[in-house]
Amino acid sequence: MIDTYRHKGMRKELVNSLKKKGIKDERILNAVFKVPRHWFLDSSFLEYAYEDMPFPIGSGQTISQPYTVAKQTELLKVQSKMKVLEIGTGSGYQACILGELGAKVFTIERQKKLYLKTKEFLKKFPYRIKIFYDDGNKGLPAFAPFDRILITAAAPEIPETLIEQLKPGGILVAPVGKGSVQEMIRLTKLENGKTEIETFGSYRFVPMLKDKAND
Ligand code: SAH
Repeated sequence: MIDTYRHKGMRKELVNSLKKKGIKDERILNAVFKVPRHWFLDSSFLEYAYEDMPFPIGSGQTISQPYTVAKQTELLKVQSKMKVLEIGTGSGYQACILGELGAKVFTIERQKKLYLKTKEFLKKFPYRIKIFYDDGNKGLPAFAPFDRILITAAAPEIPETLIEQLKPGGILVAPVGKGSVQEMIRLTKLENGKTEIETFGSYRFVPMLKDKAND
């Protein structure tokens, strides 16, 4: 896989457009500059890799729009060495952005084909990412609790099981809604176990489905 000056130039442009759209965290902008997004798309789609838009990655799924990835990451307030659970591995791009920030990433994908493909692909990166084939609604009780949980598919409601797997003081970010448009929410689990919810506008994600899929 190659990464040329041209690709880096295109990433610089993308970073500038994310800044204009309000992403402020320099660590996140730097991570977007570092991770070659064109590696996550079929090579014939290079022209689209650094446009700020979502893109199909096969199995009926999409790689999220760079702005959405940056925004969710910013809302998550990730620090180096944190244990982060991601629901919806997809292409693995978001997981790599978290990895680039120094997080220990645990990511779950329910589609077997996509899981197998991304698992193999992620070996090319130096990040601490463990990928699991399962229904993310269940979380990962064996590895809980987590400092942060990020859902990258549309959740009809926040799964109670995931809140339970959050450390006190932990944060969960998710697009929540039953229809085609969801509200981005940030849930903070306070030290006393109570939860606090903030909202951050409308987004469109592919649905978070139940159970594993064998295709
Ligand atoms: N984070 C991804 C984009 C996610 S698209 C990226 O950076 O490319 C949403 C993904 O969530 C899809 O791959 C879909 O198969 C997966 N998904 C949907 N429901 C799920 C569930 N219950 N558990 C785990 N993954 C799920």
